[in-house]
This record gives sequence, C-alpha cells and structure tokens, in this order.
Amino acid sequence: MFDTILIANRGEIACRVIDTCRRLGVRTVAVHSDVDATARHVEMADHAVSLGGASPAESYLRGDAIIDAARASGAQAIHPGYGFLSENPDFVDAVEAAGLVFIGPSASAIRAMGLKDAAKDLMQKAGVPVVPGYQGAEQAPDALAAEAEAIGYPVLIKAVAGGGGKGMRLVEKPRDFADALASAQSEARAAFGNAHVLIEKYITSPRHIEVQVFGDGTRAVHLFERDCSLQRRHQKVIEEAPAPGMTDEVRAAMGAAAVRAAEAIGYKGAGTVEFIVDGSDGLRTDGFWFMEMNTRLQVEHPVTEAITGVDLVEWQLQVAAGAPLPRAQEELGIDGHAFEARLYAEDVPAGFLPATGRLSHLAFPPDARADTGVRSGDVISPHYDPMIAKIIVHGPSREVALRKLRRALAQTEVAGTVTNLAFLGALARHEGFSAGEVDTGLIGRDLDALTDLSAPPPEALAQAALMLTGLDRAPEPLDGFALWDALAQDITLRVGEDDIDLRLTVQGPGQVEVTVADTSVVARFGANGWRYQGQAARPAYLLGGGVTLFGAEPLVVERVDPLARAEGAGAGSGLVEAPMPGLVRSVFVAVGDTVAKGDRLAILEAMKMEHALLAARDGIVAEVMAEAGAQVDAGAALIRLEEDTE
Ligand code: ADP
Ligand code: ADP
Ligand code: MG
Repeated sequence: MFDTILIANRGEIACRVIDTCRRLGVRTVAVHSDVDATARHVEMADHAVSLGGASPAESYLRGDAIIDAARASGAQAIHPGYGFLSENPDFVDAVEAAGLVFIGPSASAIRAMGLKDAAKDLMQKAGVPVVPGYQGAEQAPDALAAEAEAIGYPVLIKAVAGGGGKGMRLVEKPRDFADALASAQSEARAAFGNAHVLIEKYITSPRHIEVQVFGDGTRAVHLFERDCSLQRRHQKVIEEAPAPGMTDEVRAAMGAAAVRAAEAIGYKGAGTVEFIVDGSDGLRTDGFWFMEMNTRLQVEHPVTEAITGVDLVEWQLQVAAGAPLPRAQEELGIDGHAFEARLYAEDVPAGFLPATGRLSHLAFPPDARADTGVRSGDVISPHYDPMIAKIIVHGPSREVALRKLRRALAQTEVAGTVTNLAFLGALARHEGFSAGEVDTGLIGRDLDALTDLSAPPPEALAQAALMLTGLDRAPEPLDGFALWDALAQDITLRVGEDDIDLRLTVQGPGQVEVTVADTSVVARFGANGWRYQGQAARPAYLLGGGVTLFGAEPLVVERVDPLARAEGAGAGSGLVEAPMPGLVRSVFVAVGDTVAKGDRLAILEAMKMEHALLAARDGIVAEVMAEAGAQVDAGAALIRLEEDTE
C-alpha cells in the first residue's frame, strides 16, 4: 500500500478520497487553487500545495504542476477523482513518466473509450450489444441522412467526442434531419473541437442503467447496476441501486456484458459501463445496449458502496498498489436498496440556473451519508461545479430507502444560496418514481408539477413574519402590553417573485395574530416555544432581512423594504450583466433594436450550461458591450438599454 498519495481534485470527491486514506493510515496531499486555499479538502489533508489561480485551467488542470507537487511532497501515487484530469490519457502518461502511479486505468484503456464511435466498434467486436446505428467515417449530410433512414426514425445524432449531453440531437422526422445535423456538428465543433458524429436508433421509454466494474488489468468483476434514469438535460439528478424491476437473469446478462467490455481493454480500477435500456415492456436480456464507458470513479458510486458494503476508493488504492482484486464475483452480493440525491446551488424556477453564494448555514441529516466539500460559512463560487453535497440513504427495501430519502432531504438545511432541495423533495414524492416507473423522460414530462412552488402555507409565512420583525422572542413573565411592540404592523414579504402583504396584530404577550389575505393565523408562545395555529415552529435560519425555513418544503422568505420598493418601482434595470463568469456564445441584438420584456438578448455559457440573458423590461438597445466568443467576468456589463423616459 502507498504511504502518501496526492489527490488531484477538489470538493466532495477530494474529501471522499481523503476519508478512506485516513481510515487506511495513508498520508494525503491536497492541491488547491487560490480561491480554495481554505477549502474543506485542504483542511482535511495532511499536506497542501497551492496551484494558484481560480479557473480550472489555471489550477486543477495543470498536470505538470500537480506532478511536481506530488514529487515534492513525497507522494507515490495520484488519485484523479472525477472530472478535471481523470480521463486524460496524456496526463496518465506524464504521471507514469514521472515514476508515479496513476490510481486508475491505463492511458490506452482511456483512449480506447475516449471516442464513442471507436468504443462502439470495439465493444461490438467484444460481443457487447451496442445501440443499432451508424458509426462510420462517412460524414456527408446526404449519406448520413440515408443511414438515418435505414436505421429508422426516431434517431439520435451524437458527437463522437461528446460528453455531458452536448452535441446530441433527437430527430423525429426525416425532414428535420439536415438542420439537426448541422446544429449538432457546430455544437460539437465548438465544445470538443471535433464535429464528427454518429447516428443511433433512439430507444423509446429509455432507461439509463449502468454497471459498476472493477478490474485488475486482466480480469474484472462487476458490482451490480445503478439506475440513473432521473435526468434533466441528460444530467443525473437522483440515482439508485439496484435498478427497479431488475431480474436476476437481466442482471447477469448486463453484468457479464460489462465485464466483457472491461476485460476487452485490460481495464484496471473502477469504471462504469453505461447502457441504454428499453423500458417499454419490462427489462429483457435482449433490451439493453452499450452507450459508453466512463473510465473513472463516478459521482454516484456511493449507492453501489451502500448496497455492496465495499469501499470503492479502498479497492482503487489496493489494486493500484498491485494487490489482486479484493473479491471474486461470487463473493459479491446486494444488501437492500440505496438512493443518492445531488444537492446543487441552483435556481430551479429560473430554469435551473447555477447559483453562487455564501452558505451561511449548512446542516446535514443525522441518518444519512452526506458527501460534501463545503462547511457552514463556505462559498459556492462561480469557478466550479455548484454541487453542495450528495445525500445518500440505504434501507432494507426500496420503499424504506425512499422514505429515508424524503426524510433526509427534509432534514437537510441550507441557507445563504438558493438550492434544488425543494425540487429533490418533490421528485422523491413523485408517484411514478415512488412506484419504480422511471425513464429518462420523467422529469421533463412532469417538470411543471415538480418545480411548481405551491403557495406557501400561511403558518410558514406567519413564522417568517415574526422572525423578521423580532416578535418571535420569548415574552418575559412580567411583560405587560406596553412592553410589546406596536399593536399592529404591516409588512411585505417576498417569496420567489411574489410579494405578499401581511398584518401582524399583537394580542398580548406571547400572542400575535398574523393576517395574510383573508386567512389569519394565531401565533402563541407556550411551553414548547411558538406555535402557529397549533403547528410547531419549523427549524429556520435568520440572516439580515431574510429567513430560510427548512423542512419537506423549504422556503426562502425576504422582507421587502418599503422604501427600496418605491425607488425601484418601474425602474426595471436597463443593464444586462453576466450573472457568472462565462463565455458569450451569441448576441441577438444590435444598437437601436427595440426589445420587449423577456426577449432573449444573449446566451452565456457557464458551468457546463447555456444561459439565456433576457430583457428585464421593454426598451431600445443603447449599447452592446459583449461580443460572441468573449470570456467575461461575473458582473460584466453586456448590454445596456436606453434610459426609461416614462
Ligand atoms: P456521467 O453523467 O457521464 O455519468 P457524472 O455524473 O459522474 O458522469 O459526472 C459528469 C461529469 O461532470 C464528470 O465526469 C465531471 O467531468 C463533471 N463534474 C461533475 N461534478 C464535478 C465537480 N464537482 N468537479 C469537477 N467536475 C465535475
Ligand atoms: P454523454 O457522453 O453526453 O453522457 P451518453 O451517450 O452517455 O452521452 O448519453 C447521455 C444520455 O442521453 C443517456 O443517459 C440517455 O439518457 C440519453 N441517450 C443516449 N443514447 C440514447 C439512445 N440511443 N436512445 C435514447 N436515449 C439515449
Ligand atoms: Mg454518459
């Protein structure tokens, strides 16, 4: 076993690797960017080396600097985590040339799976079922259209160099093919510098089921499957293991195919073979096809750990250090069911816009595993993935595990930034999902219901109102009326986009009536603190003019300052600024154009996604300061509308 390893990553995955190292008595070296100098992974490691900079290119992608840090700090091996350099075969070559061990597969195994077309060819030869389609060299539009016709619509066009759902287009009808091809190719050229595409049969009622494999360079075993069908824009949201509806027969067939895939490339370490599965009529041994292999530890690996009892990072270290596979296939089994939910700083109603902010309060559920790279007080910065944590639960059955997931989400407390917690909660309560009817279209179909912030309950508003006005203090036994605040007080609260007017009427020490529209809630102070119309106060966090209420339906409530509101009335800012650092993809307007409120003015690409920047009001474009292709900082002025003269 190694005595010291360096972790070439940040965030929750770096912390996750350090956890196992501590348990095994392995010394750890962290690397970090300037903005991560005091990050949790740095605090946890035995030794830390600064890489400088903020952006990944200036820090976590600097392979040479990372290798120098490993040598200088006495590390014998480098764990790449996921993302960053984890699937970069040139980095693997450089690590080995420096006399260090790369904790992962060989450069040649990564190269073999790097391009989707070559990987599919290779898998076909190894006897692994692949999605029917065309993955040849011919790229002329007419020839590709003929291939699509032969495959049969609907088809999927995929960039061979693709990842993260980019360069991918679903085409339902022949007449849409040419346009879809052109846009997939241009997206692929921009994102990967490679416009080459393949065409695939689009599997209807698709499920994404992947198999965890583990190899020693020659032989491989599998650690069963994960179902990752709950996706939004091809990105995973909640994952589970095992897959609902899986049979022993289909599991054996998928496991064997995944092991064949791994052994065909002499795979070493942890990897994932992703299959697309036809879920229209139950799972079948002839109803799954190889999609791609991810040659690294996957974000959702904890659900596999939960059901197998295996620490995958421990296995990675052992095998990289030259030990044989820790267990044979027959020695692996499934115990119960597990879920993982990915908690992100993102603004769900605004179209899942990645968010930033200081986590003024952060607390995780007592009965769940929470993998995180942040603590209370830390900042979610615009430079990296906005993941806050992964919440993982395990139970004896799917039903119990799902109940534990709902409870764990309700007990997760985040204040200081918007999160997708309410969305995750709604998803965990979704009827179809609860029944195990999952497919990759589920979230898209029910998006409105899943993101609808139902009107906040008046009891919650009453609690927020008392907290924001300071009336929620405990009355002293001798408090008379006169010592209490003004008898009646009007305040305005903002929830999302909505302003809500409330009237607070003090009825005596420890008793306040809160009126919201035509509903009134009586708040009373008793032996167990405040109750709102009999309901106990919810756990909550107050900071400045805002309060975050936790629970199954978390809620952020802000107090609207009446003066600020008057000033801002109708002013609708005419300046469009970049909400985060990113790349300006397109600008749709020119000086002199007339725009209406809500019009798309430009597209900013940031944090792996494209964000439309909209006009906040009607107006005429006075100035365009952004040009397509430019890299901009957060807050950079991009477009200005003429002064509102009304
Ligand atoms: P996939 O969707 O291919 O199964 P994952 O969901 O495991 O893969 O992660 C998607 C990719 O997103 C990772 O390979 C990595 O490139 C990137 N990624 C996700 N989270 C982070 C993070 N915190 N830091 C760096 N990269 C990340
Ligand atoms: P990426 O490299 O971007 O992760 P994948 O090939 O893994 O690309 O596909 C991403 C997602 O797209 C899958 O998880 C699945 O939801 C969907 N998908 C991919 N191929 C097909 C297909 N042939 N039919 C239906 N859905 C598909
Ligand atoms: Mg994938």
